[in-house]
Amino acid sequence: MGGGPMHAQAPRSWTLDDFEIGKPLGKGQFGSVYLAREKKTKYIVGLKVLFKSQLVKNRVEHQLRREIEIQSHLRHPNILRLFGYFYDDTRIFLILEYAARGELYKQLCGHQFDEPRAATYVASLAHSLNYCHSKHVIHRDLKPENILIGLNGDLKIADFGWSVHAPRNRRTTLCGTLDYLPPEMVEGKSHDHTVDVWALGILAYEFLIGTPPFETDSRQATFRKISSVDLCIPSTISRNAADLIGRLLVKDPAERLALKDVLRHPWILEHASDTLASLERRKS
Ligand code: ATP
Ligand code: MG
Repeated sequence: MGGGPMHAQAPRSWTLDDFEIGKPLGKGQFGSVYLAREKKTKYIVGLKVLFKSQLVKNRVEHQLRREIEIQSHLRHPNILRLFGYFYDDTRIFLILEYAARGELYKQLCGHQFDEPRAATYVASLAHSLNYCHSKHVIHRDLKPENILIGLNGDLKIADFGWSVHAPRNRRTTLCGTLDYLPPEMVEGKSHDHTVDVWALGILAYEFLIGTPPFETDSRQATFRKISSVDLCIPSTISRNAADLIGRLLVKDPAERLALKDVLRHPWILEHASDTLASLERRKS
């Protein structure tokens, strides 16, 4: 839909009156997302509503500001667009691209994808991450919960709340699941854009097997498995797919396969050439 009608006008200030609000699409930690329609153009969006009091209480205002700053400047078919934002006394509203098919997490849920689907997903993620990195943006929180699916089945990376403008080598506190974090992050060392390459390897594995490779019942055990890259790729996985996963899940960040080389890996070329060709065509 090109830039879409939301982008047809010069940047303007929106208000809640510009939108008709529809059904709730989901609930996050700090607010809810609703289906909404811009009254004039009838353009369908996702409207994320955040309560200022909650943001302040949890000290995440700066994180939201960064998310808005970063996500509103990214333009890629596999990155959820942030069209704009506005606020009133108590709330902040984000105008988001509507991802009609919902969360990747729900599609996955222990299921496995066939190779063409898995490879297509890996190719579109590699292409969009490569774009982010070229803009010096690291996502840092790539996992199925943060990936949505558009109307025609395209993946849409969302949730740039943890993303940073590189370079910014610093330690981070770890809340939430460890499953997608690389050794250097669970060990509290400095990290760079290659954390996203690691997460891509975890996702590739999960697409084909149904669960992430270092999942256990305990944080300690997962920590140990990640730290020692205790990786076991079942023999049901094709040789090319196993080869790619093995080149992404490498302890030394500098030795992980470069994203541009992911895009010409035999497994990707075998199953996702059409996807890549169309992504290249859409570049403007
Ligand atoms: P947190 O990471 O703080 O827990 P979240 O990012 O998981 O929050 P939100 O971004 O608030 O949660 O979204 C909540 C849910 O709403 C998502 O998991 C998803 O199911 C749905 N959703 C969010 N944005 C969209 C969108 N643009 N299109 C369709 N569904 C969406
Ligand atoms: Mg999320």
